[in-house]
Amino acid sequence: MIQTRGYAAQHATAPLALFGFVRRPPGPRDVQIDILYCGVCHSDLHTARNEWHNTLYPSVPGHEIVGRVIATGDEVTRFKVGDLAGVGCMVDSCRHCGACREGLEQYCETGFTGTYNGPEQGSGANTYGGYSETIVVREDFVLRISHAENLAAVAPLLCAGITTYSPLRHWGAGPGRKVGVVGLGGLGHMAVKIAHAMGAQVVLFTTSPGKAEDARRLGADEVVVSRDADQMAAHAGSFDLILNTVAAPHDLDAFLVLLKRDATMVLVGAPGEPHPSPDVFNLIFRRRRIAGSLIGGIAETQEMLDFCAAHGIVSDIETIAMSQINEAYERMLKGDVKYRFVIDMATLKQEPAQAA
Ligand code: NAP
Ligand code: ZN
Ligand code: ZN
Repeated sequence: MIQTRGYAAQHATAPLALFGFVRRPPGPRDVQIDILYCGVCHSDLHTARNEWHNTLYPSVPGHEIVGRVIATGDEVTRFKVGDLAGVGCMVDSCRHCGACREGLEQYCETGFTGTYNGPEQGSGANTYGGYSETIVVREDFVLRISHAENLAAVAPLLCAGITTYSPLRHWGAGPGRKVGVVGLGGLGHMAVKIAHAMGAQVVLFTTSPGKAEDARRLGADEVVVSRDADQMAAHAGSFDLILNTVAAPHDLDAFLVLLKRDATMVLVGAPGEPHPSPDVFNLIFRRRRIAGSLIGGIAETQEMLDFCAAHGIVSDIETIAMSQINEAYERMLKGDVKYRFVIDMATLKQEPAQAA
């Protein structure tokens, strides 16, 4: 077994702290990755604090992983030692249901295996994520990284990037389409960049007027402060698509009325408590829709990474040391992130060995 260290929450109200554990040695089809960087997703916080009421403890979060391959099993064909590699939100799935056969592993009919919070296929054991020194993952769930530089800023593409790319592609963001993005956090800022690169007209909705200038720099054509009723009313009935990334319950009607007939608001934000129920008349009268979307499949994640490399897209990040993670969570809760924290995993490797 491989002895490793990570940062774990031991229960819902405990801060994350150093935690020693073992990973399986690479099997014939596994790749072992030395983790260089791991992004900090709001889902990590929801999970560490059991806000979705399904956390297995100890919980080692982290599913925006970029690293270097340090070992491969005998049957691995796509990676060799020294290659860059990425791991996102999934490390396995059943591989034979209808969804898996279509390359939609995130919708695996028996449930995919999360990079953290398991359960592992077969054993049902918990899985431990990227806030750690090294990880062992089946080759099929490892992504190729073609960005040549700025690897820390590539890490957030593995969740924030794919979670926004997938619905933007599915609902046809592109030239001639007016796309709204709600919330300028980790997901929202990637949505702005990607929708802009796809050629859509992008309007960013924010509760933080101070983020307006950044939003325009990131690619928004217009910025609307969502608490300003007059600014909102100016966009009534005009959107083809709205991507809602907000991590807290809020009034969905404020955005539904901005959709055209037959247009869709896709919810990707996943608050621990439900949104107040929207007014059905806002849906009925213009045949509007509310939809949801979960990350993206492995093939589409690769497509997104290649799209971002081709368009020079990375995340805007603030690098932190592993030991600053609890403080980073508090700042994330206040919307005080520009626009994704990324842990430099060298700082974990430098922590004294005896502390594990
Ligand atoms: P984040 O960086 O914290 O960004 C969320 C943004 O939402 C904030 O920056 C803020 O933007 C806005 N916001 C927060 N609280 C708000 C409130 N009470 N009212 C209105 N706006 C508020 O989080 P993230 O990492 O982007 O994740 C966002 C959500 O997506 C989380 O719930 C996460 O679990 C979920 N998620 C879902 C998937 C999926 O597959 N569907 C994948 C990854 C993450 P402004 O300051 O601009 O208003
Ligand atoms: Zn995530
Ligand atoms: Zn499946």
